[in-house]
Amino acid sequence: MPVLVMKFGGTSVANLDRIRRAAKRVGVEVAKGYDVIVIVSAMSGKTNELVGWVNETSPLYDAREYDAIVSSGENVTAGLMALTLQEMDVPARSWQGWQVPVKTTSAHASARIEDIPPENINAKFAEGMKVAVVAGFQGVSDEGRITTLGRGGSDTTAVAFAAAFGAERCDIYTDVDGVYTTDPRISDKARKLDKIAFEEMLELASLGAKVLQTRSVELAMRYKVKLRVLSSFEEQSDEAGTLVCDEEEVMENRPVSGIAYSRDEAKMTLVSVADRPGIAAAIFGPLSEAGVNVDMIIQNIAEDGRTDMTFSCPVDQVARAEKAMEDAKTAGDINYHDLIADKDVAKISAVGIGMRSQSGVAATMFKTLSDEGINIKVIATSEIKISVLIDRKYMELAVQALHDAFELEKAR
Ligand code: ASP
Ligand code: MG
Repeated sequence: MPVLVMKFGGTSVANLDRIRRAAKRVGVEVAKGYDVIVIVSAMSGKTNELVGWVNETSPLYDAREYDAIVSSGENVTAGLMALTLQEMDVPARSWQGWQVPVKTTSAHASARIEDIPPENINAKFAEGMKVAVVAGFQGVSDEGRITTLGRGGSDTTAVAFAAAFGAERCDIYTDVDGVYTTDPRISDKARKLDKIAFEEMLELASLGAKVLQTRSVELAMRYKVKLRVLSSFEEQSDEAGTLVCDEEEVMENRPVSGIAYSRDEAKMTLVSVADRPGIAAAIFGPLSEAGVNVDMIIQNIAEDGRTDMTFSCPVDQVARAEKAMEDAKTAGDINYHDLIADKDVAKISAVGIGMRSQSGVAATMFKTLSDEGINIKVIATSEIKISVLIDRKYMELAVQALHDAFELEKAR
């Protein structure tokens, strides 16, 4: 039998009614002849509540117990989904991660899946079970402890199962009906895309388009799992949602597929550091050790052997970055006159695989921002992405103007 993976996020299983609605969709696929693996999230809000209880009980908690507690939300929905399917006369059974088993590393709260042996579930399919309902987000370590995969990790569970079982497709049911050219809350011209390439989705996912856990897209790309993002609140159809797939399958010849943004960025400038071999290592080594996620970097042209070094990082890491730099200065590893933090910047990015073959994307982007009177503070580019830092107060305007400039209202 062909296998289909269907993943239901928290809002799609938020109460018994919605679980019934999701189960009906599963029933439709079973009737088509699929063996279905259903991956469920916790009911919406549940994981936050569990995390809150952990923090209240023990601020410096033991990560093993954190995982034991926060993984439990998924166990409830898995059992309820299996019961609901049974009530509809669909042969179903629930599985917690350790029962499958979903083998992971022992990095608690951010474990990675290492292996999913399919034998146990396949044996049940062979006996006539039609649906295996698996608790997402969780697994088991070599030490036999429960692990979790990081927030949003059920997406990754779903893709990993699709790869392990050679599923025809992995459908991710959520509360949006697909992947958009930009955030519809910012531009009312945002369009849903029918298809998007893995690489593009990866950039959009890590840039803050929170539809899929980044790790799940990486996995899907590696194992060529066809991923579909669709809403569990709309009519079921084979063309619904957005297909995340291989580049070759995306036929549209557009230079830009989406405009992403990240609101809470900061720009830090080390004024007048010595321009000598090893200076970048002396700055960015300590920042990385302090857990600062540096994104863009610019080094200015040196004058009299001194230069300015600018980098960006999430705004809530500014204090950590300042401390790391002060400590390095005290230790005599670096020397600078001043450290200036601009905490009111946002990052805007244009993303598209078409940039590889079409020139002029950067020029259009800069001209568009300039026509709006928006000053660009930092620029960074990659093969399929151009990002700029601008004043946060212009973020919405920039997204709207760029969406217009690249005619994304015509995208599909
Ligand atoms: N319930 C977990 C979370 O809220 C995992 C998931 O839903 O993907 O992060
Ligand atoms: Mg999610």
